[in-house]
Amino acid sequence: MKIALIAHDKKKDDMVQFATAYEPVLNQHQLYSTGTTGKRIMEATNLQITRFCSGPLGGDQQVGALVATNEIDLVLFFRDPLTAQPHEPDITALIRLCDVYRIPLATNIATAEILVKGLKRGDFEWRNIIHERDSSE
Ligand code: PGA
Repeated sequence: MKIALIAHDKKKDDMVQFATAYEPVLNQHQLYSTGTTGKRIMEATNLQITRFCSGPLGGDQQVGALVATNEIDLVLFFRDPLTAQPHEPDITALIRLCDVYRIPLATNIATAEILVKGLKRGDFEWRNIIHERDSSE
């Protein structure tokens, strides 16, 4: 599966903790992230991550573009709901695209844990069926 990891500044410690705790699950998958989030995770773990621009500089839109082309299977986005973000329109757009394309999206660590446990259990295998169908069309 292709998984996008994004965390706002005040949630980056949570993301590092999360990625460390679930490293054995996450390292079975292809990981993508916005710039600083990916840097922080890679400094703390052995995970390999394809990093995009920093969120405020277009990283959320880059993740959104992959969602729109069905190239992301899961988005784990630790939002900070208590701080105004300069790139709020980009954040809204990413969340909207996840809903448009029915991509599982967690916006906080509690939901992310449930989704990653589901991932480990194979609950996302339906995404592989969709990919196989798309590639045979
Ligand atoms: P960052 O971007 O990982 O580069 O900090 C995340 C965001 O603010 O959307």
